[in-house]
Parts: sequence; structure tokens; C-alpha cells
Amino acid sequence: FTGDIKILLLENVNQTAVEIFTNQGYQVEFYKSSLPEEELIEKIKDVHAIGIRSKTQLGENILKHAKNLVVVGCFCIGTNQVDLKYAASMGVSVFNSPFSNSRSVAELVIAEIIVLARQIGDRSIELHTGTWNKVSSRCWEVRGKTLGIIGYGHIGSQLSVLAESMGMHVIYYDIVTIMSLGTAKQVSTLDELLNKADFVTLHVPETADTKNLLSAPQFAAMKDGAYVINASRGTVIDIPSLILAMKAGKIGGAAIDVFPHEPAKNGAGAFSDDLNKWTSELVSLPNVILTPHIGGSTEEAQSAIGVEVASAMSKYINEGASVGSVNFPEVSLRALNLDQDNTVRVLYIHKNVPGVLKTVNNILSNHNIEKQFSDSSGEIAYLMADIADVNQSDIKSIYDELNKTPEKISIRLLY
Ligand code: NAD
Repeated sequence: FTGDIKILLLENVNQTAVEIFTNQGYQVEFYKSSLPEEELIEKIKDVHAIGIRSKTQLGENILKHAKNLVVVGCFCIGTNQVDLKYAASMGVSVFNSPFSNSRSVAELVIAEIIVLARQIGDRSIELHTGTWNKVSSRCWEVRGKTLGIIGYGHIGSQLSVLAESMGMHVIYYDIVTIMSLGTAKQVSTLDELLNKADFVTLHVPETADTKNLLSAPQFAAMKDGAYVINASRGTVIDIPSLILAMKAGKIGGAAIDVFPHEPAKNGAGAFSDDLNKWTSELVSLPNVILTPHIGGSTEEAQSAIGVEVASAMSKYINEGASVGSVNFPEVSLRALNLDQDNTVRVLYIHKNVPGVLKTVNNILSNHNIEKQFSDSSGEIAYLMADIADVNQSDIKSIYDELNKTPEKISIRLLY
């Protein structure tokens, strides 16, 4: 059936994804940019899958036109551009790429640790404008220094390994207890980390709890001359407080890759809006590295994202496996053997209300149910079952009966 699958790829998603879908035999329509709303509505009407990045908005106004859509792939980390709840209510599963670029971010932070310790940014700016300023005062090796990692997830833990290999001591703070890698040590409070670290780097998600996680009291708790690095989310540092702490000489330097309000597109005048009132002060401070949210922007990360999202989407299309979906119950069974005669996989997405499984199992009970798995998440639930000894007329009657159940959201039978 794969030759019947139509997939629309927008915003120049990586060629690794195009290759995966083409090899699956899907009909791929590829665009380098996003589409104007009218055209998107026209195209989405009959495709089974759509791949986007961050610019394409898939709200209810667009999704409601999709008649055959089963899956959306966000070839990026964020999924705010998709109305996840509405998609789930239509039985459309959404996938993203949560950690294909972790290594790229960790490597950027390693570079920034050395750049800050050696004031390389300032020396480079000076020499670009003709000033030779050979100094060693307040320039340091990183060997033997302590790196404090806040948030020991995919990026924080990867960074921990890299930093230790440069001879740094690593401590980390996280709200959950996490096994340390190498000789890194988890500390039990944020303050303990701030008191001990020469470099403090943030790798937490954007949540209500992490908003202004580093503000005036936290900068005050740091060692004199400590460095601060933020390549997580712009809301996590209170930038005006950082500016004050730097002006007071408390903080020796900062590298910032993410900002509270980031421009939507590349070009000059990045911080010209009123939302970033602190910009002029920030850019005039010494030893401040500013980068335009490029932590995860490498060729390797882009191709890894292509592979990760395209593989998850293909697995969902071909086998129904929803593991890693951001808006759906995570359900999977052993790979479906379509060569085995008379085996059918039933994928039944339904409203999460009592009594549905009884009805469905009644419908399936005349056949040999080889495997079955169901799970629910919020208002929707997903059942997957492999049934043996089913002939063509059984397939039709199973479909018709399931289709009549009032709780049904969508059904697919794979055979
Ligand atoms: P992750 O989910 O793997 O890890 C986050 C860790 O932070 C978890 O261990 C979690 O328990 C911990 N945490 C959550 N709240 C906390 C709190 N209040 N205090 C301490 N720890 C807390 O995430 P990740 O993949 O490592 O990504 C980390 C951050 O980096 C995210 O904000 C992500 O959006 C961002 N990111 C930025 C770029 C970039 O280009 N700069 C690229 C990728 C990811």
C-alpha cells in the first residue's frame, strides 16, 4: 500500500528525509519554502502525511481541511506551530525531533567555555578593527575549573562528558535524580552549584519553574568572576539582572544563544523592537558572546533530524507505532509481518471513554487476536491489534463494524 501514500514536504526539510520517504515508495511532493495559506489548504486536502519546520502554522483552520491526514512531522524541536490537541482529536499523530541536535549544542558550549575564559570574542573584535591587545590578565585555562550544569538531560549530560575530557570538574543540578556520567557529581541545591562553579551553563526546558531561573539573587550567589552560558531558552535568564551583575564585576563573561524575543527571520536590525530594551547595554559589555540561536544548527544535526522524524513517520504510517509522538498515546507492537498470509493489523483511534474496548473486542473476537496493545492520553485512546486468519470479506466487515462505533476517531487496517 505504500505507493498510495502521499506526503507533502515543506520548508526544505533535509534530503535524508526525502530519501527515506522515496525509498518507502511514497509519492513525495517537496517544496523549499512554506506555502501561502490558500495553497496549503488545497494541498493538505488529500495528503496522508505532511512534513514541516517552524514556519508552517497548522492550526484548526488548516487541519480541518485534511481528509486523509494521519501524521504530521515537525522537522525541528518545537511543536508550537501545530495545534496538537486538535490534531489528536482528528486522529493525527505529530512527531518531532527532541534530541538530534544535542551534540551540536554541547559542542557549542564547550567552545564558549574556552572563548569566555580567554576573552577571545573581545580580542577578535579588537583586531578586526585594527587594535593589537595582547593580554594574559584574567585569562585562564579551563583545566581544573568547575563546570556547573543546570539540567542534566540530553544536552547537559553530553556536555558533562566532553568537559571532563578537557580536565574540568563537573557538578550538576537537576530536579530529578539522574545517574552521573564519568566522575560528575549531582548537587542537591541550585545554590550549592552556584557557590562552587566557575562556569554555570543552563540546559533546562522552558517552563513556569525555569522562568528567570537565574536572576539577581542567583548571580549574587555565584563565585566572583564566574561565567554564565545560556543555550537553552531565552526566558531562563533575567537579562537586565545579568547586565547589572556584569557591570558590578561579579560575572566575568556571558555567552547567550537564546533570547526572550527572537526575530522571525535573518537580517539586520535583530533587536530593533521594543521587546529587547536591554540590547544596547548588553552589546556594549566586555566578554559577551552573542549568537543567533545556533546551538543546534549544524549540517549533522539537520541530517539527523531528517532521519529521526522521517523514520518515526514511516513507522507510524507502515506499522502504526506511535512511540515518540508528542500528542498521542504511545503504542507499539512487534514489527508487522505483512508477508504472513491473512494477518491484519487493526489501528483504532477512539475517544477515551469507558466501555469502548469491550465493544471493539466483541467485534474482533471471532478472530484469533495474536497481539494487542492499547493506551490512552487525555481525551484520546489508541488500540493496536494483530489478528490472524482474516480473509478479504472479514476485513471489510471488521472495518464496517468498527466504523459504526460512536467513539471512533479514525481506523486503519494494515494488511
Ligand atoms: P532534556 O529534556 O533532555 O533535559 C532537560 C533537563 O532539565 C531534564 O533532566 C530536567 O529534569 C531538567 N529540569 C527541568 N526543570 C528543571 C529545573 N527547574 N531545574 C533544574 N533542572 C530542571 O532537554 P535537552 O534536550 O537537554 O534540552 C535542554 C534545553 O536546550 C531545552 O530548553 C531546549 O529547548 C534547548 N535547546 C536549545 C538549542 C539551541 O539551539 N540553543 C537546541 C536544542 C535544544
